[in-house]
Amino acid sequence: MTAEEEVKPLKIAIIGGGLVGAFAAVTLSRLPNVSVTAYEKSDKVREVGAAITLTEGGLVTLEQVFDLDELEKILYRTPNNGHITRRHWKTGEYLNEPHSKSPKYPKYNHAKAQRVLLLDFILKHVPEGTIKYGQEVKSVNVRQDGVAIHFANGNVTKADLVIAADGIYSKIRRQFTNDAIVYKGAVAYRNVFDDKIVEHIPGLPDDVTVWIGKGSAMFMTRLTPGKFNVAAHLRDPPEVAANLRWNKTTGDWGKKRLIEHFKDWDPLIGQILEVMPESIAFPLERAPWLENLVVGDRIAFVGDAAHPTSGVYGAGANMGFDDVWALYRSLLETKYNLKKALFLFNETRAPFLKRVEKQIEIDQQIGAKYIGTAETDEEWKRRVEHRGLSAKWITDHSVDNEFEQVRDQNFLQLFVDE
Ligand SMILES: Cc1cc2nc3c(=O)[nH]c(=O)nc-3n(C[C@H](O)[C@H](O)[C@H](O)COP(=O)(O)OP(=O)(O)OC[C@H]3O[C@@H](n4cnc5c(N)ncnc54)[C@H](O)[C@@H]3O)c2cc1C
Repeated sequence: MTAEEEVKPLKIAIIGGGLVGAFAAVTLSRLPNVSVTAYEKSDKVREVGAAITLTEGGLVTLEQVFDLDELEKILYRTPNNGHITRRHWKTGEYLNEPHSKSPKYPKYNHAKAQRVLLLDFILKHVPEGTIKYGQEVKSVNVRQDGVAIHFANGNVTKADLVIAADGIYSKIRRQFTNDAIVYKGAVAYRNVFDDKIVEHIPGLPDDVTVWIGKGSAMFMTRLTPGKFNVAAHLRDPPEVAANLRWNKTTGDWGKKRLIEHFKDWDPLIGQILEVMPESIAFPLERAPWLENLVVGDRIAFVGDAAHPTSGVYGAGANMGFDDVWALYRSLLETKYNLKKALFLFNETRAPFLKRVEKQIEIDQQIGAKYIGTAETDEEWKRRVEHRGLSAKWITDHSVDNEFEQVRDQNFLQLFVDE
């Protein structure tokens, strides 16, 4: 009996064609006997000119679906095996990283990519015609025999299973939770430009480098092919943040804001800012994460729709890829028994995500009560080094191990008892 004959047909609708929705379109299309359609509200592919980190856990997951040698062509690998180099904001002095260790295989070292190239890469693997652009979903209606999907243009379609990958502002999530998005108090400034513009500057870093200051940070990295990335998070008042959008440049204003803010920092930063083109800037936002990633046996939330926080240890999209992979395995192993599949998916992802959300809160407290209260610069540096980077357990998380543990612990309930 072939895999196709073993399982009944399944109609999957994905809402959203961003990094995670597109990855879901590739991955879930590989299940036997499924029809997958993704609905994206924009008329065409859109991504922001910025860098994205691919973590150890994320690369392990991507390798399940893609040929890593092919992906490698768009990745930037640092000479120091992907470790982040942290520097003192003013002196540029290198800070110690007490706990940093490398993955077992170098191919899983953290890597950087341009977001646009990563999305293009994923889209290249989506079966033709799977993503329908210009299709804004207005709402979903869960019924006994499936889910009715209502579009802004008045059309309605039906699916057995809906994957909500509609991002941080997810309409689908808010249909069930009614949550509010809040400004985190910081604006992200982003710029990707030709490295030729800065190549002449002595001391230009080859590693992913972050200058840590009191209340703000400056990140820089090279990108493939021949690009340089500048990224900063600054505390800006809500009225400033409210006028900024990821899809429009700030003109002269953003660059001047950066030059002014960083004028007393390591002079290398100022030299780079002086010659770079204008940047984009957008507010960092968040909403409470979903405690339960499923609705009945019919809807699963993945990516920012499920864990809506902009910028989480450089791991938000990687966690979204893991969501999709957990869903893929859950569907495959339960042979499309949706009740069992969504139980497995939720149990694999929700407890881990809850721990990550808790860590964000703890790190805010560490910032306020420990690092932020140091009275001298020497003590501040000691505390920053003592804290270290902290996110390793998040970025090297193995979704496969977690999935297998949940499956094994629920084996009787899932596969034997009726
Ligand atoms: C400053 C910053 C830095 C970051 N750095 C990293 C990093 O280094 N590494 C990392 O892993 N993550 C990083 N992230 C997080 C990462 O960007 C997100 O987790 C990721 O983009 C989420 O992808 P997504 O597909 O879930 O959502 P999105 O990319 O937001 O995609 C959602 C899609 O759904 C579509 N859509 C929305 N509503 C509808 C609707 N009603 N109908 C149809 N379509 C709809 C949208 O048009 C969009 O295309 C960063 C985020 C920020 C803000």
